[in-house]
Amino acid sequence: MAAVLGLQCLRCGADYPAGHFAEDCPACRPVARSNLVVVYESTLRAPRGKPAAVAGRGLWRYGDVLPVSETEGVSLGEGGSPLHRLERAGQSIGLTHLFGKDETRNPTWSFKDRLACIAVSSARKMGAKVIVSSSSGNAGAAVAAYAARAGLDCVIFTFKGTAGPMLTQMRAYGARVVAVENKADRWTLMAHAVREYGWFPTSPFFGPVVGSNPYGIEGYKTIAYEIAEQMHWRVPDWCVVPVCYGDALLGMWRGFEDMMAFGWTDRVPRMVAAETSGSLAAALAEGSDAPPDMRVNQQTIAVSIGAIRGTFQALDIVRRSGGLALCITDEEMLRWQQTLSAREGLYVEPASAAGPAAVEQLAQAGRIGAQDSVVTLLTASGLKDPAATAAMQGDLLVVPADVDAAIGVLKAAAVFP
Ligand SMILES: [Zn+2]
Repeated sequence: MAAVLGLQCLRCGADYPAGHFAEDCPACRPVARSNLVVVYESTLRAPRGKPAAVAGRGLWRYGDVLPVSETEGVSLGEGGSPLHRLERAGQSIGLTHLFGKDETRNPTWSFKDRLACIAVSSARKMGAKVIVSSSSGNAGAAVAAYAARAGLDCVIFTFKGTAGPMLTQMRAYGARVVAVENKADRWTLMAHAVREYGWFPTSPFFGPVVGSNPYGIEGYKTIAYEIAEQMHWRVPDWCVVPVCYGDALLGMWRGFEDMMAFGWTDRVPRMVAAETSGSLAAALAEGSDAPPDMRVNQQTIAVSIGAIRGTFQALDIVRRSGGLALCITDEEMLRWQQTLSAREGLYVEPASAAGPAAVEQLAQAGRIGAQDSVVTLLTASGLKDPAATAAMQGDLLVVPADVDAAIGVLKAAAVFP
């Protein structure tokens, strides 16, 4: 475990105590609201040996650079996900070294388990009794599972009319799921619970959103450590991440910076945000620190990245890494969802397919070269949100009970030769 000194504003560098996670940076509010990040004792960033072959499993393999120890941790076997070479998908856009980090293998089938693991572990360590989140998707399902594992109560605010597998999943883990009439009310109610009752927030809980709980974001550092180790400590040229509030983009970047300081690697990748709103791209074009509202682009099949406004934290990492933000359409996501499924055997949710769609845009524009190494984060399983896929599929071929007639139908349909 790494000793935590406190929290620090990502934008202005102001220091705050370790328990200040229930606020953003007050100093930055008038210009651009900014999230805080965890600061450790300076010894954390000193050169250190790479993890030994026998070191722990999954995310806890890097437990000595996380804010909670494995013995304090609430674990369901998270992390340690495969890094697949996407040979056929890469060839289709002229790339030789395209990889997919397959986060669908996590305990609740999404990358959010890394955030939930470290956030809920931190909450239990700090003595919290109730976990609270605002989510209609993967984040809520993940914290509900980890709260159940920790023996803590969990309350999740969602919206009236929300339905689908992820809502069922949250409730199956025993979370109290509450639907609000108006979306903005979830912030008011959640902020009340955090400030009045001391509930531990794992998700954003006020607007404009700055990002999720700083301790939880530390869980995403392990994605970067794993990618580097799986690539034999060679850092990819590009990392492409589907972005809602940019928690994973920030966490992964912090992991890549750590590894430079540890002496494990000698460079950092360019970080690319694949978004549906165009908010980050607009802020980059304007040179602003405050990503604008893009209400016009509200409709998307990618519910997991459906925010209409980006965050400073995502913008900051794209800028610092020399990366880009790209706006992805429903058509591109559905096409890439199909490509990953049918050509690589990987069925991911629509939001995950925004990553390779962004890679395609960059390859076609000549920004990514044929020999560049590219890792795209495959954030969650397609079974989390199968409705859009199902809507694309035609009628099922039904054959009659009579076998000869059935063979005839199958030949006519070219299933049989
Ligand atoms: Zn600040």
